[in-house]
Amino acid sequence: MFEELAEGVFRRPYSFLRINIGVVIGEEGVLLVDTRESEEAARELFGELRALTTKPVRWVINTHWHWDHVFGNALFPGAAIWGHRSCRRMLLGNPEPHFDDALRWMPRDRRDEIERVRVVPPQHTFEAVTSIDIGRHRVEATYHGRGHTDADVVVRCGGVTFMGDLVEQGKSPEMGDSYPLEWPATLAASRPAVGPTVVPGHGGLLSPADVDDQADRLERVAALLRQVLFDGRPAEDAVRRGPIPELHMRKALSRARSEAGIPL
Ligand SMILES: [Zn+2]
Repeated sequence: MFEELAEGVFRRPYSFLRINIGVVIGEEGVLLVDTRESEEAARELFGELRALTTKPVRWVINTHWHWDHVFGNALFPGAAIWGHRSCRRMLLGNPEPHFDDALRWMPRDRRDEIERVRVVPPQHTFEAVTSIDIGRHRVEATYHGRGHTDADVVVRCGGVTFMGDLVEQGKSPEMGDSYPLEWPATLAASRPAVGPTVVPGHGGLLSPADVDDQADRLERVAALLRQVLFDGRPAEDAVRRGPIPELHMRKALSRARSEAGIPL
């Protein structure tokens, strides 16, 4: 159920994709970090929330535009939904890739939930930083550059930092929509906003030292990719020697090629 990480600051881990939802309860209402994978899932979250507080959900911050973090947005029409401006742009654009991705992951018996989803992009956007005073708590959302996507937002409230999928626990970083050459610098830039308690988008809690480890690993990935793209190192050799599984190295290489503007 809800795990209280600081006074009024919680995470709710779910077994599906081991996703974490952040909850901050302020004087004026509740702020959510991400909204789960469907409106039904968001409704379940909302019902559980009633055991913690009767205050309304007045703010949502989307850590990025991936479906499993935003498809519950429509359940909160009374909330101000915040995200990076690329998050809004991606969710206003062609919805098909989002639905395709969702249908690939969703168990067969829950696919109708995806078909019913109404995509609601953040109405409020920012480029670098936004600060929301929710009464008793001030929540700060910051953007440090491209990484897991082009819209990864870090949300800090006191000593708790929600990092979305910029960091992972128990699995390799997800490269499919990533910018692997820029990701290490983005993590380094986010460092002042990190900790001491780190909530990744998926999986168990992390420490700032874990974030540093992941930054190192991503830097080793980026160094290998640069050698392939710019120094003529054979791609297969780099893929084999990468610090993440080969499939992820291959995805990272293809993403880095387009990032660097180098045709396949
Ligand atoms: Zn993601």
